[in-house]
Amino acid sequence: MAPKRKIVVVGAGITGASIAWHLIHLEYEVTIVEQYMPASGATGSSFGWLTGVVKDDATDVLIRRAALADWKRLEEIIPELQIKWSGSLSYGEISGSFMKNETLLHNAEIARLEPALVNPPEQARYAAEDGAVDALEATRILVCKACEKGAVLQTQTTVSGFCMTKGKVTGVLTSRGKLDADCVVLACGIGVSALTERTTTPVPILSSPAILLRFAVSRRMVKTLISGDDIEVRHASNGDLLAAEDYPANGNVRETAISAQLAVRNRLAGAESAVLIKYSVGERPVPRDGYPVLGFTDDSKDIYVASMHPAVTCAATIGRLVSEELRDGKCDEIPQNYRPSRFI
Ligand SMILES: Cc1cc2nc3c(=O)[nH]c(=O)nc-3n(C[C@H](O)[C@H](O)[C@H](O)COP(=O)(O)OP(=O)(O)OC[C@H]3O[C@@H](n4cnc5c(N)ncnc54)[C@H](O)[C@@H]3O)c2cc1C
Repeated sequence: MAPKRKIVVVGAGITGASIAWHLIHLEYEVTIVEQYMPASGATGSSFGWLTGVVKDDATDVLIRRAALADWKRLEEIIPELQIKWSGSLSYGEISGSFMKNETLLHNAEIARLEPALVNPPEQARYAAEDGAVDALEATRILVCKACEKGAVLQTQTTVSGFCMTKGKVTGVLTSRGKLDADCVVLACGIGVSALTERTTTPVPILSSPAILLRFAVSRRMVKTLISGDDIEVRHASNGDLLAAEDYPANGNVRETAISAQLAVRNRLAGAESAVLIKYSVGERPVPRDGYPVLGFTDDSKDIYVASMHPAVTCAATIGRLVSEELRDGKCDEIPQNYRPSRFI
């Protein structure tokens, strides 16, 4: 029997976790190397919205169209993921053309769907098929399931470069020494740029900060996931209210958190005494040109990069596509403009 291909996955966010889970099911020898603990990057602060609503000309349309079906496939195998298929309600920017998977709701229908929403808007978009997942928990579950099947997780270990012999990758250099590998998958979010810029095709992944807030509330009041121009909220599985906010231009995160608390208290009947219990800033990895990055960075097909935004929505699809490509050498579902070679 030919020896199994040794693959090191760098980064245990939702992207690396999904890729590792898919690869271990293709019988590879998989080691996940994480500089801190699983989900300590953007994933740990994610709002977890899984949305299939996407414009035809969106940069990630090809992945996003498959995203919900892939999460449903994973959920059948791993029911512990506990995805809430609650639908989403969006308002604020209503244009004339509605996208596939959306319905236009008017004031009275919005009030019936979300009775706690104070002064419901005149119109909103309802995406009945959308869902939400606890991204941190999903990452832990995928990593744990991959390890049960034989993957190895190495935490508190930073990858600093590659070991090469005659142009072929033989391993990665880490803060704990060399780790053998025939192939390395970089799923390390904003860490991708530093690892690619010196050795291989440089892949520019920018950092886009955003804030996740958690409120203690006395009861569940939001039925769907609400994404308006004033609040973006959903319930966590324990009943807490989660909210997502853009990072403020003046950098004052505490001030933004306090305004978010006020907005939640004012906009939701029953949330008048909502108490902010936690907030965190996550650095979302965003490829410089906005297109997902999926593919080998070198001719010998030893180094692979997987990075995009929004990666929680797309993680199950990314895992499927990347694992198929590593098995077959090429995956035709991934278009040319997602390839790292565009940065040469
Ligand atoms: C407030 C907020 C709300 C969001 N809401 C949504 C949403 O609703 N839906 C959605 O789809 N997306 C959302 N996102 C974006 C989403 O969270 C990210 O796209 C996704 O988590 C990126 O996952 P990742 O695994 O690619 O990167 P990360 O989660 O950043 O994981 C990268 C991992 O690699 C590790 N690492 C980095 N460098 C190294 C190295 N050299 N060696 C070893 N390990 C390394 C890091 O420690 C980290 O754990 C949101 C993000 C934020 C912050």
